[in-house]
Amino acid sequence: MDRCLIYGIEMDNRPKIAISSCLVGQEVRFDGGHKHFRYATESLATYFDFVPLCPEVAIGLGIPRPTIRLIAGENGTTEAVSNADRTLRYTDQLSAYGVKMASTLDRVSGYILKKDSPSCGMERVKVYQNNDGPPDRTGIGIYANEILKAHPNLPIEEEGRLNDTRLRENFLERVFLYHRWLQLMEVGVDSNALVKFHTVQKFAVLAHDEPAYRELGRIVAGVGTRDIDDCCRDYIALLMSAMKVLTTPKKHANVLMHIMGFFKESLATEDKAELLRLIDAHREGLVPVIVPITLINYFRKRHPNSYIDGQTYLEPHPPELMLRNTL
Ligand code: SF4
Repeated sequence: MDRCLIYGIEMDNRPKIAISSCLVGQEVRFDGGHKHFRYATESLATYFDFVPLCPEVAIGLGIPRPTIRLIAGENGTTEAVSNADRTLRYTDQLSAYGVKMASTLDRVSGYILKKDSPSCGMERVKVYQNNDGPPDRTGIGIYANEILKAHPNLPIEEEGRLNDTRLRENFLERVFLYHRWLQLMEVGVDSNALVKFHTVQKFAVLAHDEPAYRELGRIVAGVGTRDIDDCCRDYIALLMSAMKVLTTPKKHANVLMHIMGFFKESLATEDKAELLRLIDAHREGLVPVIVPITLINYFRKRHPNSYIDGQTYLEPHPPELMLRNTL
């Protein structure tokens, strides 16, 4: 995918995904090992360039090194402390490195973090109390926390969660969407471009979050009356949070019925019946969503419709990734 056209936006550059270095097989862990996440290097590497980052090595902790843990500090704070010497604290260095790297990620379309790490973990990281009682799972890695704060719209996931096919599809749909947004920002956006961007995204948003779909429509409708930068800021914040809401068979069926409405005059009775049957089968959990979508894509070839043809919903990510092929 060196140069291609996706949804009418030319992509000169492959999307970039930042990733914890140990997940791409780099031997940077405390014990000199790695946590190779093969899905990234064997499947996603076809479509993305990775930007591996290891905060613990970057702040000079070395390989191998004593492990660190999060402990509860004062006033609800969390500290990263060496397990070998509890007087050694790395909170400030990890936090400063996070702030520094966050400022370099403006052209990155996603981030895959190592779960459970006191530096890289995105959520549910163990936090110990000072009295060494059992940890609770309420922490966020010190480095990861700075990335999350600086880039609230950036799709960020942990490798563990990406083993769940629904979370995986959701993450990658957001990564490709965010990449298109970054491309739009790069060429410069005006009200027409924002309206066009939103128009092709409509059914995709509807499949995730209907209230946000309506609110996004209101933001775009008011684009001529507001500062374009303010509009874009509100639009992308709401869009990216809406796309985090998981789809369901019922929501997909709703969107597919909307799309079917665009064909109803041109389809033969038996074609309509077959499409309806597959939409119902998906709603009932009998076939994956790719099944009715494949039939719609076949009908689109016979009955082109510029509005439907442009919708990212029908192909939000490369079909070869087979993200919609499971129930
Ligand atoms: S989890 Fe983060 S800090 Fe730990 S080895 Fe992997 S990249 Fe480095």
